[in-house]
Amino acid sequence: MFPVAVALRGRPCLVVGGGGVALRKVHSLLGEGARVTVVAPAVCEELEGLAEAGRVQWEKRPYRAGEAASYWLVFAATDDRTVNQQVFHDGERGGVLVNVVDDPELCSFHVPARLRRGSLDIALASQGEAPFLVRRLRQVLERHFGPEWGEWVQAAARFRAAVRQVPREAGEVEALFDRFFASTVDAERLQVRVPTAEELAAWLGGTDSAAGTPPQPVGADSGTAPRPGLVSLVGSGPGDPGLLTLKGRKRLFSAHAVVYDRLAGNALPSDLPASVELYPVGKEAGHHPVPQEEINQLLVRLARQGKRVVRFKGGDPYVFGRGGEEAEALVAAGIPFEVVPGITAAVGAAAYAGIPVTHRGEAMRLTLVTAHEAAKPEGPQVRWDLLAADPQATIAGYMGVASLAQVVQQLLAAGMDPRTPAALVERGTTAHQRTVKAELAALPERAAALGVQPPAVFLIGRTVSHMDRLGWFALQPLAGERAVVPARQGEAAAQLEAAGAELVVVPSPPTPATVVAAAASPVTSCVAGSAAEVEELHWCGERGAWSGRVRVLCLSREAAGRAREVALGHVIQVADPEELVASLGRREHAGSQDF
Ligand code: SAH
Repeated sequence: MFPVAVALRGRPCLVVGGGGVALRKVHSLLGEGARVTVVAPAVCEELEGLAEAGRVQWEKRPYRAGEAASYWLVFAATDDRTVNQQVFHDGERGGVLVNVVDDPELCSFHVPARLRRGSLDIALASQGEAPFLVRRLRQVLERHFGPEWGEWVQAAARFRAAVRQVPREAGEVEALFDRFFASTVDAERLQVRVPTAEELAAWLGGTDSAAGTPPQPVGADSGTAPRPGLVSLVGSGPGDPGLLTLKGRKRLFSAHAVVYDRLAGNALPSDLPASVELYPVGKEAGHHPVPQEEINQLLVRLARQGKRVVRFKGGDPYVFGRGGEEAEALVAAGIPFEVVPGITAAVGAAAYAGIPVTHRGEAMRLTLVTAHEAAKPEGPQVRWDLLAADPQATIAGYMGVASLAQVVQQLLAAGMDPRTPAALVERGTTAHQRTVKAELAALPERAAALGVQPPAVFLIGRTVSHMDRLGWFALQPLAGERAVVPARQGEAAAQLEAAGAELVVVPSPPTPATVVAAAASPVTSCVAGSAAEVEELHWCGERGAWSGRVRVLCLSREAAGRAREVALGHVIQVADPEELVASLGRREHAGSQDF
């Protein structure tokens, strides 16, 4: 089948039959400006009306053998197969295109399902074999292609005309078209935007300051997807969803499957489409973690199915993350892979807690060390004695909550100053970050008394003393707040984020990733603007996005009413997004971010 778009204006076309199906065909033909003749002994009311109005020519009689041959394009929609066959054969003999509705054998052409946005036409076809599917697929696409696509094509047409007005080299023309496309299309999310007049003028006039550098994408996710079968080891960063890299996010959105650790869940994009398969492999309460060997096998298996796989790991994949072992297993299996680094926990947590990990005159070295090994008497050991001997350094210890006392003991035994500033940062960079600072010798006891839980990193060294002045994160008005906000409430989201709240943005409809991201750490509040948004939040809540009672800030009476009906949480009605921050700020923050 060879797809073509045919100009029908003024051309004679025939529709045999007078029922509802015939009527639809008549409408499509009239829409293209064809001259339409209907042949049928009887027609439906609407067709009769069209005939009376002179818009179609109605021949009130049965089909006559041979007559199809004198038209340009013919539809047969009678319920008599012999008549339909006759029309088809007449068409074949006369070299005329015939379509017998719902009878692929009697068709020399098919009409694709069509999605039209201005002059943009998206045609879908299945060689006539599964039109029902094509129609449904069109409905799916309908939702994705808003009216802006029509405006975008119109803008592109104007741009093309403007480009052509001036004589230019072919290469320059292509470069301009590339710029228009790359700057206005988010290829992964299928979104377009109409460029501003200033942008167009800048591109055309060559005064584009970004010329020579890659054009500005629509969102963060544009670009081509890597080929299938590739495994990307992606670091999620330390927890704050905003600390995931652009490349990591891009890989997640073009993945078929995401294999994620529990700690990485907090930074999983909550708007990741439902079509992305999610495989949790981390430690979860009451469940044993999936053994490393099984994770390796899962990655290999998914990649061999031709999938683009993201192995989504906390912090950086190669910093105490066993990413190296996974990469080795992939290489051994002949699977292509790449690494997308992430901000490692110690670096992220230190920055949020107010600890510069290096500082002129104070710390010339940063040691990332696992404290875990200290707990094992046999096997390789960390040379704590060497670390203790260097006061111009910062020690960042991972996996150290349980073995902190032993580590400190070893450092002190090796002669480290017991008054060295030291800190523990629990759930660093997240809404639930808590910090404790003490002199080295006192840290284990303080931490135990305050019940510090993993994940936490300890930081030891003179630079820790800056915390008191540089600890900016905990000072934000909404530090400690983790709010679930519908994507439509952009204004509310902006206000909350600016005040320091961590957000879980809920797309419409929510997806499984929304639930995973929300459930990764405790939710303190939700925002809803309408009853429909309450329903979507309720959907997430029912699936375990949070447990316990959350505060539900409703921006309308309708939302508040529905939130009470479904018992979403403690309902508070607020007048507008600006009031959100004030009403959340009013609550007691007792001990929520600092010990
Ligand atoms: N690959 C990760 C580390 C994994 S090991 C990275 O680069 O960050 C797990 C340890 O990381 C935890 O025991 C804890 O010490 C540390 N960790 C991870 N996330 C953390 C966070 N948000 N705050 C503090 N420590 C964290």
